[in-house]
Amino acid sequence: MLIHAIMTVLQNFLNIRNEIPGGTEIVAVTKFRDPEEVMEVYNAGHKIFGENKVQEIIRKRELLPHDVQWHMIGHLQTNKVKYIAPYISMIHSIDSLKLLAEVNKQAQKHNRVIDCLLQFYIATEETKYGLDLTEAIQIIESEEFKKFKNIELCGVMGMASLSDDMKLIRSEFQNLKAIFTKLKTEYFQSNTLFKHISMGMTNDYHIAVEEGSTIVRIGSKIFD
Ligand SMILES: *Cc1c(COP(=O)(O)O)cnc(C)c1O
Repeated sequence: MLIHAIMTVLQNFLNIRNEIPGGTEIVAVTKFRDPEEVMEVYNAGHKIFGENKVQEIIRKRELLPHDVQWHMIGHLQTNKVKYIAPYISMIHSIDSLKLLAEVNKQAQKHNRVIDCLLQFYIATEETKYGLDLTEAIQIIESEEFKKFKNIELCGVMGMASLSDDMKLIRSEFQNLKAIFTKLKTEYFQSNTLFKHISMGMTNDYHIAVEEGSTIVRIGSKIFD
């Protein structure tokens, strides 16, 4: 039973890897999963894993090899940045200047530059976190932002509506792509590191890839 489950995890991961373009990164989302299951993907040579809770990143980091590149993909409270700042590889969920300032401050303490994405609110639901374009521009144009030396803004992230309406989901991803293009053209034209669009999960990653995703965040389809 357990062996069967483990083989399936590996096969699931390899199927997805083969299916999507080589230039698109996969964040294997490990929430609710045991270290043994995560190790199956790790042993296939994959190093990029994501969690949506700080406590879970801390817990799993202790149980897994230290060359795992952890991505924080969930809502991040300012007072918890300090716990992950020493090693976090990318934070997908920047939704305020205050949070970005704290990431910069904590990264500085550890002599690091932390890669960050601005999270946009693109869904029709009320519950999702994220910025709108006006708020993002306010952050980027602020004097404070220009002084940050320990964060690197690498692009944008968004979650589509939890819906079976594929047209709706596609239009939300197109909206995120348009936001990315606008920011890239107006503020990051010569910055080659501003290049990522993190969009697409188990139920919608095919559409996300078609609409220009460079990072998909997939959990259930690998581990279920
Ligand atoms: C859980 C989670 C995912 C992965 O979702 P699946 O549907 O299991 O693939 C992706 N992004 C975020 C922000 C998540 O919290």
